[in-house]
Amino acid sequence: MRLVERLAELLAPERIVGRVTDISPDGLLADGIRGLIVDLDNTLTEWQSEVIPDDVQRWLDALKGGGVSVCLASNTHNRRRLERVASKLGVPYVQGLPKPRKRCFNRALELLGLTADSVAVVGDQLFTDILGGRRSGIHTIMVQPIHHREFIGTKVSRLFERWLLNWFGKHNLLPEENR
Ligand SMILES: [Mg+2]
Repeated sequence: MRLVERLAELLAPERIVGRVTDISPDGLLADGIRGLIVDLDNTLTEWQSEVIPDDVQRWLDALKGGGVSVCLASNTHNRRRLERVASKLGVPYVQGLPKPRKRCFNRALELLGLTADSVAVVGDQLFTDILGGRRSGIHTIMVQPIHHREFIGTKVSRLFERWLLNWFGKHNLLPEENR
């Protein structure tokens, strides 16, 4: 297998959407997905924020109504914020296990009470959300960051992300259709 294919198996998202609200609960259920492991910063909220935008809140409510469970997994250093957001949303969260470690995703599966084949990871970063999901055999959905403001280290990794996504794209290793 070529290097680009091997890297794509670890780092290419299986689906790319603009915003979490583009992920339809019915579509998930039709694909056998009954749980989501969801990133916080720049996926559900702006970086370092606790404010869930209205449309994102409606999407979370629709997931709950449709029977799709959510578990938060964030690499934030502000554990209290994660705890507050999770409790406000009434969902579990993974504590003290950073992405992309497999233990983080295994813990999330435990909390959801689901197996890898019925769960998807949703996040805005290749080297944490997508890499972690793919290593753990969990379906991956990449979203565009909600806002351009982010940690300086993240801005650096965005350069590599963009380069990799372009490279995967040139080799037709990115998903074509976005449902
Ligand atoms: Mg993020």
